[in-house]
Amino acid sequence: MKRIGSEKETSKILQEKDFHIKKFFGQNFIIDQNVLANIVDASEVDNETCVIEIGPGLGSLTEHLLNRSKKVLAFEIDKDLIPILEENFATYDNFFLVNKDILEVNINEYIDKYFGAATKIALVANLPYYITTPIILKLLSETNRIKSYTMMMQDEVANRLCSKPDVKDYNALSVCIQYRAKAKKVLPISRHIFVPKPNVDSAVIRLDTYDKPPYQVTDETFFFKFIRDAFSQRRKTLVNNLKSTGYNKDIVLKVLEELDINVSIRSEALTIEDFVKLSNRLKELL
Ligand code: SAM
Repeated sequence: MKRIGSEKETSKILQEKDFHIKKFFGQNFIIDQNVLANIVDASEVDNETCVIEIGPGLGSLTEHLLNRSKKVLAFEIDKDLIPILEENFATYDNFFLVNKDILEVNINEYIDKYFGAATKIALVANLPYYITTPIILKLLSETNRIKSYTMMMQDEVANRLCSKPDVKDYNALSVCIQYRAKAKKVLPISRHIFVPKPNVDSAVIRLDTYDKPPYQVTDETFFFKFIRDAFSQRRKTLVNNLKSTGYNKDIVLKVLEELDINVSIRSEALTIEDFVKLSNRLKELL
């Protein structure tokens, strides 16, 4: 079989199938075989791994995944890509394609249906950039069956996801993601390996989810809202952000004192452990 992700092969498929790239679906197709192989290497999938792919596009990454893993379950929103993918992978019996918006699916139902009781489940994707954050937050909050996520995204988002306290990019997203998973940037990616070429550079990151989070949150709904409130305005102190989002200032001050945290601290300086302790105690008192 011909490799799908070369520049020549990609333009041939686009022309032959009369496929018009849809920018509103975040369609930027990879045309570099080395990058595709590097993404799959970083994911460490093997013939026992069941893989979820979001947005297979023309199938360039999918082809590598099918050759290395046990099964690939791919979600593609664009109905015009479905016949192309079905034709490309007609000879593979480990390929399962779902024509749905990933944000609308019940992921656990699909995992049960296609992967049964399998324990080695990985997500590998070149994500649509316009919904990177909602996709990751949805999957991390809805399932604990996906053990690792290897994902291409905009470099700026990758930096935020992996950032540590006191670094410019550290924000609510860094805390929410790193509460559930160990996050690491694994590959910087040039914008020149895509068709069409995006206006920004990209990066591949890997998340390894914790079986049991290192810090115990007593109420996750409260915790996730608390994180958003704590970072609501960047230049304000934690106390002022919480006050302006409706928390009782006296109780916030009391909790900070109890936990020996400086009352004029900004959220950017707090570790995940600090946030967990604050959230648990505030939940008790508010
Ligand atoms: N994997 C291909 C590649 O690397 O060449 C294509 C990646 S492209 C950046 C993103 C893909 O996600 C497109 O195929 C697009 O149609 C699909 N997509 C966009 N929004 C989606 C959604 N909500 N659910 C599922 N797929 C989506």
